[in-house]
Amino acid sequence: MNEPDLLARERRARLAAERLLDLKQAELHDANRRLAAHARALSDEIVETREETETLKERTSDALVRLETATAQTLIAERRLWQSVETIRDGFAVWDASEVMVAANAAYLEPFDGMEAVGPGISYAEMLRIVVDEGIADLEGSLPDAWIAGMLARWRGDQIADRVIRLWSGKSIQLTDRRGEGGDTVSLALDITDRVRYEAELKEAHRKAEAASRAKSAFLANMSHEIRTPMNGVVGMADLLADTALDEEQRLFVETIKTSGEALLTLINDVLDYSKIEAEKLTLHPDPFDLERAIHEVMLLMRPSLRDSDVSLALDYDIFMPTRFIGDAGRVRQILTNLVGNAVKFTRKGHVLVRVVGFPDPAGNGQCIRLSVEDTGVGIPPDMAEHIFGEFNQVEDERNRSFEGTGLGLAITQRLVRLMRGDIWVDSEPGVGSCFGVSLTLPVAEDDSPPLAQIPEGVSRILIADAQDTSRLILARQVEALGLAAVAVPSLAALAQAAPAPGDLVVLDGGLSSGAEESPVRHLRKAGFSGPILLMADTAPGAGLADGADAVLARPCRRREFLAALADLGQRAAGQAATACDTGARKGARTDAGTPEPGALAPMRAMRILAAEDNRTNRLVFGKIVKALDIDLTFAENGQQAVEAYMACPPDLVFMDISMPLVDGTEATRLIRAHARDTGLPAPRIVAMTAHAMDGDAEALLARGLDRVLTKPLRKALILEEIANACPAECRPPLPAAETTAAE
Ligand code: ADP
Repeated sequence: MNEPDLLARERRARLAAERLLDLKQAELHDANRRLAAHARALSDEIVETREETETLKERTSDALVRLETATAQTLIAERRLWQSVETIRDGFAVWDASEVMVAANAAYLEPFDGMEAVGPGISYAEMLRIVVDEGIADLEGSLPDAWIAGMLARWRGDQIADRVIRLWSGKSIQLTDRRGEGGDTVSLALDITDRVRYEAELKEAHRKAEAASRAKSAFLANMSHEIRTPMNGVVGMADLLADTALDEEQRLFVETIKTSGEALLTLINDVLDYSKIEAEKLTLHPDPFDLERAIHEVMLLMRPSLRDSDVSLALDYDIFMPTRFIGDAGRVRQILTNLVGNAVKFTRKGHVLVRVVGFPDPAGNGQCIRLSVEDTGVGIPPDMAEHIFGEFNQVEDERNRSFEGTGLGLAITQRLVRLMRGDIWVDSEPGVGSCFGVSLTLPVAEDDSPPLAQIPEGVSRILIADAQDTSRLILARQVEALGLAAVAVPSLAALAQAAPAPGDLVVLDGGLSSGAEESPVRHLRKAGFSGPILLMADTAPGAGLADGADAVLARPCRRREFLAALADLGQRAAGQAATACDTGARKGARTDAGTPEPGALAPMRAMRILAAEDNRTNRLVFGKIVKALDIDLTFAENGQQAVEAYMACPPDLVFMDISMPLVDGTEATRLIRAHARDTGLPAPRIVAMTAHAMDGDAEALLARGLDRVLTKPLRKALILEEIANACPAECRPPLPAAETTAAE
């Protein structure tokens, strides 16, 4: 190789080496740069880590401080908690799941009186054993092992019932144990000694109060008797005095004595009833009774207070509803008396309407009865509708009272209705009127009364002339329900337009005005109507008959009586239609069917009445009450005489005083009933006359065979009503026509 080549090769080698060097330097530089960056990152990381470590260090020390504080606070809280637990008078203990005591306060351990064995670490069973062995608790007659077993069974049950134990110290402790989380049990031993003593005192006070209440009832019973006996004289004599010739002033005095006496009696009855209900001593005595009749009796009693008023009283008894039910007739009558009495009292103008509808009880318990008493009176403000059912509550307060009353009537009524499992409510609008509703479900009693009278075929129309809208409507409905044509008109003029003709029967309201002085019956007769007239009278019915009416019914009259009268007169109307001629004279004439006309029948004998009464004055009062009646009256002075009089000649009706010497009224009743059973003699209706107004007496008397209880003072109206109702068909009517109204 020549030199230039060598040089060239050397130069190339040098150049290559220089390039390689450059490359390596570049790589080195790059590696250095990366190293520096890495070193920087590393140092950053170190700085960061150091900072974090610092923060962590700070935090740890904070946490430690807090932990220390918390621990201190926990200790304080625990100390306070235990201090609190220690200060409470009641025992407190905690048990773990294995029934070992964890902690207990001093009160819990107090009964154990420093016994070291009892404290944290003792088991529940061991503690009970100590209780028994040391006689700490009264085992109430249990054997020790049985007592412990019972206590353990209670403690281990799912739901631990509270239990009261008595300690030897006389303390009463109520144990209340509750299972907590993890099986722990917290036990409280509450000292209820004061409560137990207080309860015992309360029981004693209650017993004393009950004794006082019994004494009060007895006092009320006696007081009622004591007040009623003299009141018998006052009201009875005032009643009789009113029937004598008096001048106007004297009459006012007598009426005042009578009404004040009666008001006083109502008051006594209300107070007595209420105290009876309060003492829950009132029981119902269900018996078969006639609801329609009961309503009529109540309405009849109300009539005197309506005599001079502008208010009509009517009954709308659903014609398809039974009338005989099983219930406490006396109490049903009392409910009605309160409701109808209020309606009459609070109504100055318009009407009081008792409506009865019903339907068979879907549950098969008899009949659901809806009874409503509707009036057009002063009404009741809505905010008072509930209030008035409370005791002594009235719409008017005592400063502005214009109506009399105790405010007890509705309270008693509501309780009676509830006692019968019924409901009572009121709808009312001030100034428009009120409607009190009662719903009752009563079993239907067998109807042993004769079937309703049938109206004979051939009666063309029943013309009803009645000025009172409600009563006209009701009569028309009853007639139409029989399938007859009814024409109801409000006046005599309208009746004339309906042109009564042979075959028609006229039902005439006695209060209709003819425009002249003459009565409506006379007016109709003068107008040429010769068919039968049934007069519905509010006043003395005698006048109606004298005027030419064919029958007279006192209003309100029962559906049965109304239908019977229609059937009776219908015979004549039908006869007239057939012959189209006037039958002429009525009195004493016989109808085509051969039945005597009303008033023409001559009954065979006078009704026989026996009155047993030992007190001479009372016999005198009774005698005067019935003086005007066509009856055959016998007095007995004691029960013995009453039984003898019955055996000698069975009366149709007996009035029986209860407290009598020798044989009292209940025993005499029993003897009469037994004699009637043994001999087949007729068993008379026996009405008790008693001065004992407490309800229990009446109930007891009814249970002992008396049919009704009249309390003294005897009311003429009730006695006459009783006599009129009990009169058998074969007797002469005991009440002369004019007395019928007196009886109302
Ligand atoms: P009393 O009638 O003796 O005051 P009640 O308990 O029978 O007591 O009635 C309470 C009150 O309810 C009555 O005072 C009266 O304010 C009101 N009240 C009851 N019935 C009626 C009625 N039909 N119309 C208007 N207010 C009535």
